[in-house]
Amino acid sequence: MNENTQNQYDSYLIHNYGAPAISLVSGKGASVQDDQGREYLDFTSGIAVNALGHSHPDWVESVSKQAGTLIHCSNLFATPKQGELAERLSRYTPKGRFLFCNSGTEANEALIKLARLHGRALAGEEGKRYTVITAENAFHGRTFGGMAATPQEKIQNGFRPMLPGFRHAKLNDIDSFAEQIDDEVCAVLLETIQGESGINPAKPEFLRDLRALCTERNVLLLIDEVQCGVGRSGKFYAYEYAGIEPDAIGMAKGLAGGFPIGAIWVAEAYADLFTPGSHGTTFGGTPLACSAALAVLDVIEKENLLERITRQSEAWHQELRNLAAKLPHKIKQVRGLGYLVGVGLTEPPLPVVAKLREAGLLTAPAGNNTVRLIPPLIATEAELQKATQILEQVLSD
Ligand SMILES: *Cc1c(COP(=O)(O)O)cnc(C)c1O
Repeated sequence: MNENTQNQYDSYLIHNYGAPAISLVSGKGASVQDDQGREYLDFTSGIAVNALGHSHPDWVESVSKQAGTLIHCSNLFATPKQGELAERLSRYTPKGRFLFCNSGTEANEALIKLARLHGRALAGEEGKRYTVITAENAFHGRTFGGMAATPQEKIQNGFRPMLPGFRHAKLNDIDSFAEQIDDEVCAVLLETIQGESGINPAKPEFLRDLRALCTERNVLLLIDEVQCGVGRSGKFYAYEYAGIEPDAIGMAKGLAGGFPIGAIWVAEAYADLFTPGSHGTTFGGTPLACSAALAVLDVIEKENLLERITRQSEAWHQELRNLAAKLPHKIKQVRGLGYLVGVGLTEPPLPVVAKLREAGLLTAPAGNNTVRLIPPLIATEAELQKATQILEQVLSD
């Protein structure tokens, strides 16, 4: 890394992240370049954010044009772009409505607030119906609501007391959720595919049972699609594989292809729980952010990316499973859907991530033993194969 950048990071930035090994200066498609002129295949996509890769011409055009027209005006005023984005997104869900914010954790905060409004509508102002159930090993973000929903020592350590009103149950164990739901519970919040803890999908049968359980107990089913949503799984939302309808959805990462955005969708039956003044954010749904998200939707639809991801990922997952069969002392398991893949290793992920980087492939660690492969949604078959080759070369060493 350039010495000047290194010194600036050492002296002027808070060290809340592990020290970065390289500094990136430009990108095109699925490739990025560091400040030493080295090129990498980017299978981090900025942690499932750069849906269209780097510098996609349609994205650049949409955002540049909007930047010269109207960037931000707050939600004191309507803008055509926010209206258009909500309408376009509504094609992917049952009838419902959207609220825009700026990040994944903020989307979850809005879902938690929705859950409390639901609990209060059922049990009254003095009622005690405000508990939200989340899954063990979940990750829902770093704000106080998100942290409380994230039952992981490494996330909560140092920040207690946590926000009250959270309990936890075992993913893919419907009895465990059923036991936790009593008359204090107003909602279940669940990732369709646990991302940060190592790409652990919720099973379709479990999601269907959970949907039935939530309906029976009048508890909201809130689905966190911040990482697995917006096409990454090969469906627009990963929960679609289970054929269920959630009561609300949180999304963020890939939605605007690299521009900060978050959103919740709420089913029509619950959308009026939020009343004027009950929630808001200055930056939520700026025309600039919405123009970035509209460019992502345009490309997903124009290039038939969902169909392509489904088709290409099938062959890719098979190649990865073949590699696992070839290197059982290195790879325990290949998990995930579409372009969200976790390679479960027999060793901690960080040294492997470093070796892959040195061999020209950027990947992200997850959990205690998983390397995440998160190509941009536009990644070609050749790029997927290249990544598998580098993985084989590094793990065979
Ligand atoms: C990344 C992530 C979040 C938090 O999103 P931020 O934009 O980092 O606040 C929440 N939930 C899931 C499932 C995530 O992957």
